[in-house]
Order: sequence, then C-alpha cells, then structure tokens
Amino acid sequence: MDREIRAILASVIHPETEENLVDGGFVESISATESKITVALRFRKTRDPFALKIKNRVEQLITELYPDSTITVFIKEGENSATKRNEQIEDMHRHTTTSSVAKIVAIASGKGGVGKSTVTSNLAVALAAEGYKVGVLDADIYGPSQAKMFGVENYLPDAVQVDGRDYIIPAEVENIKIISIAMFIRPTDALLWRGTMANSALRQLIHQTAWGELDYLLIDLPPGTGDIHLSIISELKIDGAVIVSTPQQVAVADVVRGVEMFRNPNVNIPVLGVIENMAWFTPAELPQNKYYIFGKGGATRYAASAGVDLIAQIPIIQTIMEGSDDGKPASSTSFEVAQYYKEAAQKVVEKLLKNC
Ligand code: ADP
Repeated sequence: MDREIRAILASVIHPETEENLVDGGFVESISATESKITVALRFRKTRDPFALKIKNRVEQLITELYPDSTITVFIKEGENSATKRNEQIEDMHRHTTTSSVAKIVAIASGKGGVGKSTVTSNLAVALAAEGYKVGVLDADIYGPSQAKMFGVENYLPDAVQVDGRDYIIPAEVENIKIISIAMFIRPTDALLWRGTMANSALRQLIHQTAWGELDYLLIDLPPGTGDIHLSIISELKIDGAVIVSTPQQVAVADVVRGVEMFRNPNVNIPVLGVIENMAWFTPAELPQNKYYIFGKGGATRYAASAGVDLIAQIPIIQTIMEGSDDGKPASSTSFEVAQYYKEAAQKVVEKLLKNC
C-alpha cells in the first residue's frame, strides 16, 4: 500500500519548485492500514501558498484509490531535523576523502581471534614495502587493535579545517596512515558503542580522514556479519574483500556467511580470497617439520568448493604474535614473515587488477 501511496505523491507537482512531492522531499511519513491512511507532508516554507491546494489534491487522489479508508493528510512547516541530517550525510558523501583512494579492501573474518587484525597490519606493511601508499581504517568496534599493532595507541588525532570543513589527521607509521575507532573512545566505553553511535562515528572516520592520495585502504572490519558491516558496505565503494580464517574455522557457518554477505547481489563485492592463518607450526629445532595444529587442508577444500581463491597460508610464528604486542607488525622486522606477506600482498594486488 505504501508503494501505491508513494506513487500518488510522486504524481503531484509543487507548482513553484516544479518537483514532485517525493523527489522534492515533501513527504515526511506515510502510515497506511486497510482502514486508515495518514500522510504527513512537510513544507520548508512557512505558510507555503500551495500547501492547502496540494493537501486537497493528495486527499482526493488517495480517496479515489481507497474510497473505504479514512484519509488524513497533515501539513507541517519548516525544516525537519531528519531532512537536515540527510543533507549533512549527503554532504559528507560528496566530500568524502576516500575519493582520493584508488582501491579499498575489506578484511573480514567469521569469528574473532583468528588473526584478522594481525593480517591487516602485516598486509599493510607488505603493500607499503612494495612501494604503495597505504592506509588502514580500523572499523572493528568490538576489538579495535590497529593502534596497538602499530604502536600508536596514545595518538590523539587532530582535526584540520580546510574550506570550512573538518578533517581528521591519521597517525602515520613507516608511511602507513592509520585511523582507528579506538582513538576516539576509552576502552571501557567500547562495549557501549553499538548501533547509531558507532555508525555515525565510523561514517566520520570513513569520509573525513585526511588520507591524501592512497593506493590501498585496508579496512579492518568487525568479525562476523551484522548491521555495522552493512552500513560500512553501503558507505563505501569496496573493491574487494579478503576473508581471514584459521584452518578449523574455514568451512564453518561463520565464514560461509561472510563470503555470502559479500556475494549477495545487493552487496556485490568481489571476494578476493581466503587467507588461512595459523595454518601450521614449525619448531625452530625441526625446520623441515610442519605440525597442523588446527587441522590440515581445510582452507584448500573450502576454497575449491566455494569457488574462492586461497590467497595465502600463514603459519603460526612467534614473532608474529610478538610483533602485535610490541606495536611493530612482524612483516617489518622478520624476513620470514615478510616473505609470506609479500606473496599475499602481491596476490591481492593481482586479484584487484583482474577484477577491474
Ligand atoms: P582478530 O583480529 O581476528 O580478533 P588478532 O589479529 O587480534 O585476531 O589475533 C589474535 C591473536 O593471535 C593475537 O595475539 C595475535 O598476535 C595472534 N596471532 C595472529 N596470527 C598469528 C600467527 N600467524 N602466528 C602467531 N600468532 C598469531
């Protein structure tokens, strides 16, 4: 019913602005049941001379279609806060700082604790080592850890004004720009950050961070699938997604759901592939041995069955863990780790090129 009423409203033109009521933003609300239809129209101008005429016309048209319903059309005047907010959001989109970013890659996982943030930071270091300009946006509101991984947890972002607009200055470590939701909240408040508050803060980070020119922006998403993912996805043009999983997790429902979320026709983000993290362990004294602590071959099997590429397999390496704790991703200090991530980064670059 709402659709029919909206169609009626779209057929009525405001004589002065020459816009129909829907496109012109005159429709504030529609509530329709079989017996009762209520429409609220909002006119920006107070005492708009056409308001009454339009109200009568709308009532008449709806009555023709639903003669047995009680029809009420309200007139409201002045700016509506929702309209203002929408204008602000549109304004943000128009001026988004991500327009100077060549490729945006989302790093996702079905569950927490599989190494998604570790992979994000090391991949960023590997891409920077290849000579690319890289940024990291930590959008993991449930466990933001990028600031810690890069050793900038005490960084307090400044804002600059350019042409009357505020921009947030990201931290910068070895040519990698980093902004994290953690830089704006106290750790003790993190759990309170749900819903609209987190969404609007993320939206600001997404559109107002002064990234400058970037080749790659990596987004560390929260684990799982949820509203926050959908809102990030709808805010940005993401060029590809990388799924991080441990071997035993790889084919479980969480990962499958993650892949399906990106592949959903309404989302339509190419899944570049899976990175299998903690794939095996090799003790220093037995360099030829590989111990598949979390199972073997899970990622390969899943990748083949789901038609997803296996981008890389990263073993359990102590320096990787130490690097996260010390605020220096191990790719920048360990040759062994750097080699694994170099290959992963090259695959990601290649896959993005192919997807263009
Ligand atoms: P997530 O972002 O998925 O919650 P993290 O990146 O925080 O997971 O990683 C969880 C823990 O596992 C961290 O302590 C990290 O240092 C460690 N870790 C991740 N990958 C590896 C690895 N390949 N080898 C050793 N430790 C790892």
